[in-house]
Amino acid sequence: MTNEEKTAAAAFLDIADDYLAGGYRKTRAPRVYTGGGERESPPGEGEIRAEFQGGASGASKAEPAASETEPAYDSLEPAAADEAVPADDSLEQVAADISRCGRCGLCSTRTNTVPGEGASRPLVMVVGEGPGADEDISGRPFVGRAGQLLDRMLDSKGKIGLSRSVNCYIANVVKCRPPQNRNPLPDETAACLPFLRRQIRLLKPLVILAAGNTAAKALLDTTEGITRLRGSFAAFSLDNRDIPLLPTFHPSALLRDEGLKVPVWNDMKTLRAKLCELDAGYAERMADTPL
Ligand code: SF4
Repeated sequence: MTNEEKTAAAAFLDIADDYLAGGYRKTRAPRVYTGGGERESPPGEGEIRAEFQGGASGASKAEPAASETEPAYDSLEPAAADEAVPADDSLEQVAADISRCGRCGLCSTRTNTVPGEGASRPLVMVVGEGPGADEDISGRPFVGRAGQLLDRMLDSKGKIGLSRSVNCYIANVVKCRPPQNRNPLPDETAACLPFLRRQIRLLKPLVILAAGNTAAKALLDTTEGITRLRGSFAAFSLDNRDIPLLPTFHPSALLRDEGLKVPVWNDMKTLRAKLCELDAGYAERMADTPL
């Protein structure tokens, strides 16, 4: 077998192995056979990552390389990256680590990273898919038309009473903009999820609102689509704690299809009912605000 044939066979076996193991491609260096028949990674991969991270010394101490975090997307059990997080972790530290992250290719096309923003002890953490053009420019999540609609959904003229300035935190599954607003790829999602888990661990939200297909699938580790998932609470497990998670449509889907407003309003009412169960202060406030 020639070296080229060996290289092609190894690539095929890697693909088969990934799909049999979990259905998603893992981040790995392509394997190349050299003249001596010895298998090695192609030169330059390490240098490229170091450049993304501003050199080896610029890499996050708390976060190992992406290959050490796998299989984060297959399983939302704490991965090596989470376990390495220091006890004094903070939202600021997570944002700083994100700002110099080069774990996936999205770092090469971003203008700004978009870690998230909102209350530090939120009732609800909203998780969307990824930053769009406005978010990439501003470094803030959900600031375009979809973001303005999300803000209106969360408040709903006081009937839901949620706001990023008071009792909500808003973030995305991936913290850098996918080019042309495409969906994040599975390996990009896998690389970024440890940051989201750190944020959830620090924020301790009472409820997670997963906005859209990508967020719901990633957080629930399911292949079910948002149309089937939405409207009912599921559980997001982290550190032996189950956090109620409500999938709903992404606000950008509402902008495209007004017919989704009714199901989303129903989801908001379901969210309100759960918060009334879980938080006495919220329930008291909502008692004066009939639906
Ligand atoms: S999307 Fe996430 S994993 Fe990829 S470079 Fe940005 S911060 Fe890092």
